[in-house]
Parts: sequence; structure tokens; C-alpha cells
Amino acid sequence: MPYSREAKTMRFYDATRFLFPRNFHLRLFTLCFGAVHLPLIAFCITEAVVRQWDWRLFVPLLAATITGTAAAIGAIWALLAPVAHATTLLRMLQRGQRIAEVPEGGPDLVGELLRGVAHAAAETSARIERLADAAEKDMLTGLRNRRGFLDAVAPLLHRERTAVVAMLDLDHFKAINDRFGHDAGDEVLREFAHRLGGALRRSDLSARWGGEEFAVLLPDTGLDTAREIIERLRAGLRANPIAAGTGHALTFSCGMAVARDYATLAKAMGDADDALYGAKHAGRNRTMT
Ligand code: GH3
Ligand code: MG
Ligand code: MG
Repeated sequence: MPYSREAKTMRFYDATRFLFPRNFHLRLFTLCFGAVHLPLIAFCITEAVVRQWDWRLFVPLLAATITGTAAAIGAIWALLAPVAHATTLLRMLQRGQRIAEVPEGGPDLVGELLRGVAHAAAETSARIERLADAAEKDMLTGLRNRRGFLDAVAPLLHRERTAVVAMLDLDHFKAINDRFGHDAGDEVLREFAHRLGGALRRSDLSARWGGEEFAVLLPDTGLDTAREIIERLRAGLRANPIAAGTGHALTFSCGMAVARDYATLAKAMGDADDALYGAKHAGRNRTMT
């Protein structure tokens, strides 16, 4: 729409802004009140000019005016309700809040406004989701990243039952990069992440902790079961090596520790890291606790 036309559209709105500048409802009601009272005012002026007063005409006219005013104000209030609601929803969007549902309007101006709000709400929530996803996900493997892991771990730790944290580090991974190139290394990381996901249970949580290191949380699990699960992954790698085409059979080392709650998680991860260090020193391709 050209600007000059918009300016014309705004002219009456601007001219009446002195009436309740902060309350659009009251401005509308005032204009409506004035308009509805015009016949009554015209009657009074006419009666004054002809110098007579007819109560039989005046009383029904006054009653009709009061009823009409109340009905008009009520109707305008109700018609403005979806506009007011749309404004509230837009305010929520500006604050970055999520909007559960936008009411559906008809094929008119209000409907168009509500559809616009619904569209903006859907776009905003999709963008928030994409950003949250990107912030918590490792783009190479599709696993959680460190932050995603720490965010997801808290509700899985109960004081009553123990969980196990495992730190996994690929053995001599640098050699794969050096021999077959960085892209081949990336492919190995992706495949390992896939195998890890396959070996874990639905309730377990895995993440790429960084580089060629992976973190796993096994909730409501003891060390023996955790070890069994990790060794199942190792057996799978032995039976069906990753990067078989490159002639390099991938192995990993693993350190494990028990975690009781979120407060002791950092300590448990440190212990698992120490155990991992021990596994490396003991010759790699093994799990230590
Ligand atoms: P170790 O058995 O002692 O763990 O030896 P390593 O070679 O696996 O460990 P080191 O820490 O020496 O090397 C890790 C290598 O992982 C070095 C780094 O270039 C590589 N790396 C880290 N992130 C990525 C990645 O995203 N893609 C690829 N291709 N390589 C990566
Ligand atoms: Mg390594
Ligand atoms: Mg490492």
C-alpha cells in the first residue's frame, strides 16, 4: 500500500488521538456515545427553537437513546475482544513466550489479523526450536553436545537409585585422520555415534563430549550392567569393524563411575575421566571403573 494512502487511513485516527490517547476502547465509546445521542440533541434543539416541550416524545426518545448507547457500546466491546486478544498474543511473542493457541477468525479483517498472529507465532516457535536444537546438538554426529547432555541429565538422576556415567574415547583416532584424511575421520565419528546409539537402551543418554570423546549416562543402572552394555558395543565393533575399508579396526577406551545426583555428577564425570585415563595407560581397548 503506498504511503500516502496509509497516511490518509491514519488521518481520523490521528485527529481523534486527543480523546483517551492510551485507551482505544474509550475513544470508540465516546464517538459512539456522541453519534447515538445526535437524534436526542436534534430533538431538544428543535423543541427549543419552536418553544414547546413534548414529554410524550422526549421520554421514549431518551429511553431509546440510552438503550441504543448501552447496546452499541456492548457490541463494540465484544467485537474488539479478538483484537485485544491478538494484541496480548503479540505482546507475548515480543517477550519470547510461547503461544499455545490462536483463535480462528472469520474471512474478515479480524480473521486476517488473527491468522497473521498465528503465522508469526508458528514462525517464532519454529525458530526458537531450531536455535535450541542447534545449541544442544552436535552437528557432525547428531548426538547431543556437552550442553545438551548436561541439560538432559538432571531429571534422570534420582537419589534413590544409582546411575553410571561412562566416558568413551576413540583409540589412536589421530592416526585415522593422519592416514585417511579428516573427512574419513568425520565419517568414523558419525558411524561410531550410530553404533553407540544402537548399543544403548532407550533410557540411556549419549553425547559427543568433544573431539573423539563421548559421554554416556545410564540411569537406574549398576556398574555391572553398565559394563555389559558398553562391552556389547565393543563386541559389535570387533565383529563388524568400523572403517573396515580403510583397513583400520577402530577401538575405544572407556572409564566409568557411579553418579547419585546432579550435585555429584561433575565429581562422577571426573572419576570416569580418571578411569578412562587408566584404561588408556593399561593398553587401550578396555573399560575401567
Ligand atoms: P588416544 O588413543 O590416546 O586417545 O589417541 P588419539 O589419537 O585418539 O588422541 P589425540 O587426543 O592425540 O587425538 C585426537 C584427535 O581427534 C585429534 C583431532 O584432530 C581429532 N579430532 C577432534 N575432533 C575431530 C573432528 O571433529 N573430526 C575429525 N576428523 N577429527 C577430529
Ligand atoms: Mg582418542
Ligand atoms: Mg581424546
